[in-house]
Amino acid sequence: MSIFDIKDKDLDSYTPMMQQYLKLKAQHPDVLLFYRMGDFYELFYDDAKKASQLMDISLTKRGTIAGEPIPMAGIPYHAVDNYLAKLVSMGESIAICEQIDSHLATKVPVERRVVRIVTPGTLSEESLLNDRQDNLLAAIWQDQHRFGYATLDITSGRFLISEQIDREVMAAELQRTNPAELLYPENFQDISLIEHRRGLRRRQLWEFELDTARQQLTMHFGTHDLTCFGVDRAHLALCAAGCLLQYTKNTQCTSSLPHINTISLENKQEGILMDATTQRNLEITQNFSGGSKNTLADVIDRTVTPMGSRMLKRWLHMPIRNITTVNFRQKIIRVLHDQVSYLQPLLRQIGDLERILARLALRSARPRDLSRMRSAFAQIPSIKKLLINKDLDLIQLLNRIGDFEKIRYLLSQSIIESPPMLVRDGGVIAPGYNAELDELRGLATGATDYLYRLELSEREKTGIYNLKIGFNTVHGYFIQLSRNQSHLVPIHYVRRQTLKNAERYIIPELKKFEDKVLTAKSKALTLEKVLYDELFDLLLPNLAMMQQSAEALAELDVLCNLAERAETLNYVCPTLEARSGIYIKGGRHPVVEHLLKEPFIANKLMLSDKQCMLIITGPNMGGKSTYMRQNALIVLLAYIGSFVPAECAIIGPVDRIFTRIGAADDLASGRSTFMVEMTEIANILHNATHHSLVLIDEIGRGTSTYDGLAIAWACAENFASCIKSMTLFATHYFELTTIPDKMDGVVNVHLDAVEHGDTIAFMHNVQNGAANKSYGLSVAELAGIPRKIIKRARKKLHELEIISREKKFKNIDYLQFKQEDQKIPLLVKKLKNLKLDKISPLQALEVLYKIKKIL
Ligand code: ADP
Repeated sequence: MSIFDIKDKDLDSYTPMMQQYLKLKAQHPDVLLFYRMGDFYELFYDDAKKASQLMDISLTKRGTIAGEPIPMAGIPYHAVDNYLAKLVSMGESIAICEQIDSHLATKVPVERRVVRIVTPGTLSEESLLNDRQDNLLAAIWQDQHRFGYATLDITSGRFLISEQIDREVMAAELQRTNPAELLYPENFQDISLIEHRRGLRRRQLWEFELDTARQQLTMHFGTHDLTCFGVDRAHLALCAAGCLLQYTKNTQCTSSLPHINTISLENKQEGILMDATTQRNLEITQNFSGGSKNTLADVIDRTVTPMGSRMLKRWLHMPIRNITTVNFRQKIIRVLHDQVSYLQPLLRQIGDLERILARLALRSARPRDLSRMRSAFAQIPSIKKLLINKDLDLIQLLNRIGDFEKIRYLLSQSIIESPPMLVRDGGVIAPGYNAELDELRGLATGATDYLYRLELSEREKTGIYNLKIGFNTVHGYFIQLSRNQSHLVPIHYVRRQTLKNAERYIIPELKKFEDKVLTAKSKALTLEKVLYDELFDLLLPNLAMMQQSAEALAELDVLCNLAERAETLNYVCPTLEARSGIYIKGGRHPVVEHLLKEPFIANKLMLSDKQCMLIITGPNMGGKSTYMRQNALIVLLAYIGSFVPAECAIIGPVDRIFTRIGAADDLASGRSTFMVEMTEIANILHNATHHSLVLIDEIGRGTSTYDGLAIAWACAENFASCIKSMTLFATHYFELTTIPDKMDGVVNVHLDAVEHGDTIAFMHNVQNGAANKSYGLSVAELAGIPRKIIKRARKKLHELEIISREKKFKNIDYLQFKQEDQKIPLLVKKLKNLKLDKISPLQALEVLYKIKKIL
């Protein structure tokens, strides 16, 4: 029987506890309900079945109703974090239902309440989060063409909205932010845009209403309207933001989220845009297999705080176009250059201050959060002392970090040196902080002394010398003696418990003491909780300043990291110019360079208004993709403010980076390689500008040779003559290498290889001019294709080349030759100047043939 089969009228036949469960479950139908019963969280009905499968726990039964057993599954409360982590990573949400003050309750069933809904996008617990990765909750809204988007990082309070003009930009934004949970309205039209995403939550339409959103937001920020945030007109984005805020409050079961103290509209014009494909192709934080190994972040991230690592990754995904900010960062990196070894150990102690502050705001910070916060703040004076007087820009950054003297004093006085995990266990508040607590504790600990004395005196009085005083949680204090001595006990000894070989007694004196001690203990514990809670009240007024400081410290960590990387990896400071173009001397691929055992061959790049496109040819494995990507990564690094892997780099304005690199079939959406490729290229053709950097690696390969060639040709022409974007165009179609003869601004370059007999050596250096052959068979042989087949292929290739040559000669337009009569001297000159190793045999033959024919 499913829970949905239960009718209201049937409820009476359930036990009071089950009735309570069903009522709570009805309020949370879409999430798993963890229902606390003593030391366990129990799940019932479909929740139990689902949980037993997902968490691999056994499915049992608890009683029956109407002859049907009630399915049940349970997990011990102390292990709940592990189970939550597992469920959340699978995209599940869990409502945590606790017993409220159970030891005082006399009611049956005890009162229970859902205290929190754990969802993938609203986690704040350290144990459930990856500390070096942002974890975002997002909401999306759509009108006819445009999208509104809101994201919230509950672990920092960062609440951002944006409006996307079209589907491509929206897809890029989803890829960049990669939310752990995405709220979308029930009437969302473009489902294919989001259906493959994790943590999808379908929400009702009214949750996205604009008026409700405004009301929600102004109420939350305590403002009259939203103009002070500059978001007033972003209607679509506000719809998404309203739903998101309400959802967050529901999951946290609170309306107080003080660390979310502003909302900002992200302006896409401020960043270099990279569409979803480009972000994937450049393997910025994620490699093609979904991991983080051998990505740009993997090489560039040696930050010493988790919050620094997360900030660096945000920067990598959104390089900025504001040169002043980039120059500011470059300047600080230069200053920090010789401070790294002093600064990093201090910064490491700062830890994840950002997330600790979020837990403080949510009032869920644990004792160790506070002790870590204390040691974080303790580093600030040393950091400031180290860096002060170094540079004006740096001082600007340091000024954003508070001193927090009072807070440091408060934390040093209130929390013991190494506190336990949970406040409920006690022993968190330091001695000397509160006189009443000290007194209660004294009473409780004085116990051992008193008991020792009582034990001695009872032994004396009774003459039973192995009499002992003990304690257990069920029976409290007792006097224990062996069974065979039980006839010796005085009359006022009252039996409490009989064991196999022993008897346990209580006496009025011990009982009185027990009452005093136990109440002292529990009073101390209650008082500790109160004091701990009060600490939050004392700290929270400083939250905004503490958040600002955490952000500045994270930025310092990132910049210090970039200084360290520049030094260790031998990067140089790029010059950013207002004039268009890119000049890179001795450029290297940051990741390939890192992986190679042998030296990386550095290469140059020169793009300008006069030379906006390179047609890149060369053998497979020659290094074409590496060369193209390294240039994009250098530009990207330059625009986050980092130094770059090159000898020298001068980079003009870049508004977008596009890549079209080796598509695979998009099986999920049923699109073929060719279709994917064409969609991607269409996007580039529509959106690229004069200032865009465009990388195209092989287009047209997914269709017939002539179609493919024709498309590649037309695209190349368009990039070079109309869009004039800075384009690197790698191709196997040798025909394209004639474009530079016909069009200004396009040049050929190739990657070199040398054949020794049947083997081939790749030189990996970029040379002027087109490659003269493709070495496809040599590469195939390297890849392990059997020799017999290679031999046969060489023969076949020879035949094909002869046929192709003949066909080509037959197609020569004799009329055109007539017109070209006057060009004969030119052709002869060309022939004389030909460096035969630089042109293909076919080109040479063609020229000879033309001359012969005309003569
Ligand atoms: P292509 O795109 O021409 O097929 P790749 O760019 O994929 O070739 O390069 C193939 C391999 O060659 C790379 O994985 C790398 O190991 C090596 N390689 C490429 N460029 C260089 C270089 N500049 N210096 C050293 N090794 C390189």
